[in-house]
Amino acid sequence: MKFIPYLFIFFAVFSACSQKNEPVKVQLTDTIWKQKLSPEAYYVLREKGTEKPYSGKFLFHKENGYYTCAGCGNRLFESNAKFDSHCGWPSFDEQISASSIRTQTDRSLGMVRTEITCANCGGHLGHLFDDGPTETGKRYCVNSLSLQFEPMNESHLDTLILGGGCFWCIESVFDEVKGVKEATSGYTGGVADQVTYEEVCSGKTKFIEVVSVVYDSTQISTLELLKIFFTIHDPTTLNRQGADVGYQYKSAIFYKNDAQKKLAVACIQKLAKDQVFDQPIVTELFPFDHLVPAEEYHQDYFEKNPNNAYCKAVIQPKRDKFEKSFKELKK
Ligand SMILES: [Zn+2]
Repeated sequence: MKFIPYLFIFFAVFSACSQKNEPVKVQLTDTIWKQKLSPEAYYVLREKGTEKPYSGKFLFHKENGYYTCAGCGNRLFESNAKFDSHCGWPSFDEQISASSIRTQTDRSLGMVRTEITCANCGGHLGHLFDDGPTETGKRYCVNSLSLQFEPMNESHLDTLILGGGCFWCIESVFDEVKGVKEATSGYTGGVADQVTYEEVCSGKTKFIEVVSVVYDSTQISTLELLKIFFTIHDPTTLNRQGADVGYQYKSAIFYKNDAQKKLAVACIQKLAKDQVFDQPIVTELFPFDHLVPAEEYHQDYFEKNPNNAYCKAVIQPKRDKFEKSFKELKK
């Protein structure tokens, strides 16, 4: 799981503070909630009840997919965040996004706890504890009655291969995009099965630095990903991004099917027509053949090296640009 605990905590806290006084989006009358929910789910979600330990249907559930709010369908947790806590309730170490869940102090039953509620409908989910055994240190203790399960349909997963200069930058941004399951730095465009960073850096191979973006097309569209791509890199400089110069820094899209190719062409034509850039777009399109994953030290480079000068000077501004332009598409 790609993750920086303190960054996450900051976002979680920031999110909770900023949303504290905002009304939730789904507001129904009690009568309608009672019609919509079973009496047991109503008791937990709307009356802050707690199901008996070891009674919930999701306690030992292990399928791949999303756990959603039983009140409104809001996605709350991914299955890969679930772990066995032996506490009697389904437990998760990370919420799906900073904006999916709200927290508030709960002083009931003579204890001080952190209550968690659905950010969309205000439904009670359970409590959040700081005793999690994984790297996040968090334990979201959730009632099964507050949850529903949406199986992951693998056919919804698609891949887009993007070259926009240094892969550290592109990967770092796409890791933050909602619906992106995995962003991997690698090399493509050449014929060899293997190639090293040093060989690619020579600019003499046909390989260029790319990022393979695996995404859930029910959560984000290819077009939205392309819009982000054209915002965070400069598609008008041939074989170059800023100070990074060489064939390997080419602006390119490697399409996996005709639909992706058509979309990329249409996107470039629209940007040109709207004169979004002062100079002509030089992004090249190629059919995708194979990806050579980059060496391990290139993966998650920004997360591994937050104090590196390049990360601060080059990558951070691209992350800022994404956050500013696509706030609603951030994880
Ligand atoms: Zn909800």
